[in-house]
Amino acid sequence: MRKLEERIMKDGTVLPGNILKVDRFINHMIDPVLFEDLANEFYEKFKDKKINKILTIEVSGIAIAYACGIRFNCPVVFAKKTSSKTLGDNCYRTEVFSFTKNRSYEVMVSKEYLDENDHVLLIDDFLANGKALEGLIDICSQANATVEGIGILIEKVFQKGGDHLRQQGYTIESLARIKGFTDDSVIFED
Ligand code: 5GP
Repeated sequence: MRKLEERIMKDGTVLPGNILKVDRFINHMIDPVLFEDLANEFYEKFKDKKINKILTIEVSGIAIAYACGIRFNCPVVFAKKTSSKTLGDNCYRTEVFSFTKNRSYEVMVSKEYLDENDHVLLIDDFLANGKALEGLIDICSQANATVEGIGILIEKVFQKGGDHLRQQGYTIESLARIKGFTDDSVIFED
């Protein structure tokens, strides 16, 4: 999506270790008007699917998932990284390895909010090695929910998570596809 690519060029910063910083409009400060456009784009791509729930992972997936929830007119569930008294024990749990934090952590979704009747669109900000999505897919499989598709804002195609998941049959739509970085700029796939 041209608009997202242009914004990445304008406001994104390349950090060491193949990390793109997009704190200026996605990960710290959020541009709600852009997010509305991004949610519309996801809607165009997935409107023919029977989607009744959106699932993401806290914290950076929540804002775009929320925008999608408005567009798809359905609830948004996010996998939590910390337990709490309100969450209780009746949860699906899975382990996720974090690319940016270089460690594993457990995520949880209450069994109240996901079950076999759900047709789910998975949404996240980045796709790198695919570990966050694998965790969400595992939670859907524990719930016997159907994964109808996956929407990603920025896919780093030189990391192989997307290839791997597509080989498993998942439909992934990424709004910006990055094939590499130079020291200070981003190279998009044609
Ligand atoms: P994966 O699990 O696919 O390896 O990584 C995806 C998760 O790591 C995303 O949820 C995102 O929060 C984070 N992530 C991966 N690569 C980047 C990056 O280049 N920049 C930022 N800001 N986050 C990233």
